[in-house]
Amino acid sequence: MLSDFIINEQVIKPGENKQIVLNSYQLHTKTNIEIPVFVFRSNRKGPTILLSAGMHGEETNGIEIIRRLITRDEIQNLKCGALIAIPVINSVSFLFGSRDLPDGRDLNRCFPGNKNGSLGSRIAYDLMKYIIPLIDFGIDFHTGGAKINNSPQIRCVFEFPENVTIAERFSAPIIINSNYREGTLRKEAAKKDKPILVYEGGESMRFDYHAINEGINGCLRLMKSYHMIDSDVPRNHSVKIEKDTWIRAHASGLFHMNVLNGAYVGKGDLLGVICNPFGDVEHKILSTADGYIIGINNQPVVNQGDALIHIGIED
Ligand SMILES: [Zn+2]
Repeated sequence: MLSDFIINEQVIKPGENKQIVLNSYQLHTKTNIEIPVFVFRSNRKGPTILLSAGMHGEETNGIEIIRRLITRDEIQNLKCGALIAIPVINSVSFLFGSRDLPDGRDLNRCFPGNKNGSLGSRIAYDLMKYIIPLIDFGIDFHTGGAKINNSPQIRCVFEFPENVTIAERFSAPIIINSNYREGTLRKEAAKKDKPILVYEGGESMRFDYHAINEGINGCLRLMKSYHMIDSDVPRNHSVKIEKDTWIRAHASGLFHMNVLNGAYVGKGDLLGVICNPFGDVEHKILSTADGYIIGINNQPVVNQGDALIHIGIED
């Protein structure tokens, strides 16, 4: 017999789909900010997966990925297991389109949280108390920043075989070995033996349909691999990245890329140029390693020393 899920006093029975509220916080305007949670449960035993996005309020690709997933019939009629989907964890920051909370804190440095702490600490506490104990594993969706566009990638810790299994089943084009950072959901969930992998795709405040589609397809592959749904999505040839390096601007000027994000490049290949605005100077940017481009700077104007191209080097 499967037991009931209880999330902050709201009961979700086996076989039930329900929209509930993780918690509600009042702003200084008396406006209540709720964190909606969508729970989809089958009557049959299977894993419980968490999909979360909007930890950083300006990272919209993950929000769109979850929005599209939860409207699908097969998600609303899971064959086994359960899905807990939180499209916008950080509703307050999403309202303002900002990465951080109104007090300047980064929610993803507030874990494991405290029920009497700052707003971020309280949201982190709610997730750790009500959601993490229910799940087997999860994917937390992020994007690059305002300048950096990340090619679609899953970040996990290669040292832990369960992390690698989930990453391979998700089958993002690129899988990166990435150590835990203090204060993150990923690290604190791992301490409870609940692997959370981070998906990164695109950049903040901008939809990137390639990254959105790869995110959706990864979730469908993952759920299919546990027999939760029927959709068959072809796998990517995933590349495992162990090390990374940034190519920085050795001159200031207008930056042009010659290669696409995600492409394989060889050491010495021409990746782009930096020109001055007056047409008399052009610096070549050559690759410093053999590897895959996992992130690019989209700023047209760069200063000497700026990070331009992030290269991931295979295992
Ligand atoms: Zn983020």
